[in-house]
Order: sequence, then structure tokens, then C-alpha cells
Amino acid sequence: MRKGKAFIISGPSGVGKSTILAELMKKRKDIYFSVSATTRAPRPGEVDGVHYHFLNVDTFRQWIDQNEFFEHAEFVGNYYGTPKKYVYEAMENGKDVILDIEVQGAMQVKAKMPEVVRIFIAPPNWPELERRLTNRGTDSADKIQKRLQRAKDDFDTANIYDYFVINDTVEGAVAELDAIMTAEHCKPEERIAMINQT
Ligand code: ADP
Ligand code: 5GP
Repeated sequence: MRKGKAFIISGPSGVGKSTILAELMKKRKDIYFSVSATTRAPRPGEVDGVHYHFLNVDTFRQWIDQNEFFEHAEFVGNYYGTPKKYVYEAMENGKDVILDIEVQGAMQVKAKMPEVVRIFIAPPNWPELERRLTNRGTDSADKIQKRLQRAKDDFDTANIYDYFVINDTVEGAVAELDAIMTAEHCKPEERIAMINQT
């Protein structure tokens, strides 16, 4: 059985990461989505343990002290972290692991796991990003401005990513993500090991 690979998905808040990942997971059954912990409040429709583990700040700090996180970072006033428990286990079981994390966390993961594939999801333009954040209706005007500013700061470092997907249409972005994941499994190292195994 082939081993799974780890993929980081980063991109501005509101660009559509959750939307395209939900569609991608309908197409590819070999994905394990890493459920992060966060101190932010759930949005309507978000389920504890499915979209995030929703923790209060004290519990989040306890998890840090107990070394539960693979990485963690602060983002616009809240903490976010990747529990390390299932990441390696899922890859051993042949699943591709998806980490939907911001750029500071992505750097921490890259340092610990150099082979991770980093994909940046970008908006077609900035006004469209503001429209999506506003239409989503989950953040105050002040939070939207903070998220937009953070998006522009992060964009300046986005050229270190391995791939850039522009989420203009959901179908187009999903098709590109799907193609990238497939291509990453066509590298000689993996293919030669597979052939030699049998
Ligand atoms: P993220 O997970 O990156 O914060 P979401 O998936 O919550 O973003 O998407 C933010 C908003 O943008 C949602 O209302 C979603 O329906 C919308 N959206 C996502 N992708 C597109 C797209 N390609 N075109 C138009 N709207 C989109
Ligand atoms: P949101 O509040 O919009 O769900 O997420 C805000 C930001 O936090 C997004 O950029 C998302 O990728 C990032 N994020 C979500 N989970 C994690 C995590 O476990 N670690 C880090 N570093 N960032 C995360």
C-alpha cells in the first residue's frame, strides 16, 4: 500500500479554503482532514470535533503544556493548533493528510516535516476577497478589516509555497488541487518503491 503525503493548504481568510476542501473530499476518498483546535467561537453550522475542536483559552494552553500540538499559532486574536496525534498515523494508513493552516504554522510544519507539500489558495483579486468575507456574514466589519490586512501581509511571503491555486470558480480550484495531489504521487521515488515492492 502506498504511504500518504501531507499537504498544507494556506490562504486568506474567506478565500474559500473550506468550500473547496469540502468539494475535494467528495472526489477523493483518500484524504484525512486534520481537525484543528481553536479558541474562536463556532460559526453557524460548524460542529465541534468535525470542523474544529473548540476550546477555551485555558484548555488550549493546557494542550500546549501537554505537548499535544504539532504546531500552533495566533491568528487575528485567536489561537489555532494542529493536534499531532493522528497526522503520522493517517499517513501510515495510506491517507493524504490535509492541514488547513495559516503561514506561521506552515513554517513550523515545514521545519519538522521538510517533505510536506505547501499549496497557497489565492483570490482572483482583493475586492472579491472582501466581498466573500462580507457575504459570508460571520465576522464584524472590524474583524473583516483585520483579516484583510493579515491576508495582504501573508501574501507577501506566499512565494515560498510549492503551488499557487487561484480560487476563481470552485470547480476550477478543486480540479487544480486534485491534479496537484495526483501529480505528487507520481514522483519517481514513490513509483519505483511501488514497482519494487511487488
Ligand atoms: P475560508 O475557509 O478560506 O475562510 P470559506 O470556504 O468559508 O473560506 O468561503 C468564504 C465565502 O466565500 C463563503 O461564503 C463561500 O461560499 C464563498 N466562496 C468560496 N469559494 C467561492 C468562489 N469560487 N466564488 C464565489 N464565492 C466563493
Ligand atoms: P478561520 O477562523 O477562518 O476558520 O481560520 C483562520 C485561519 O486560521 C485560517 O488561515 C486557517 O487556515 C488558520 N488555521 C486553522 N487551523 C489552524 C491550525 O491548526 N494551525 C494554524 N497555524 N492555523 C490554523
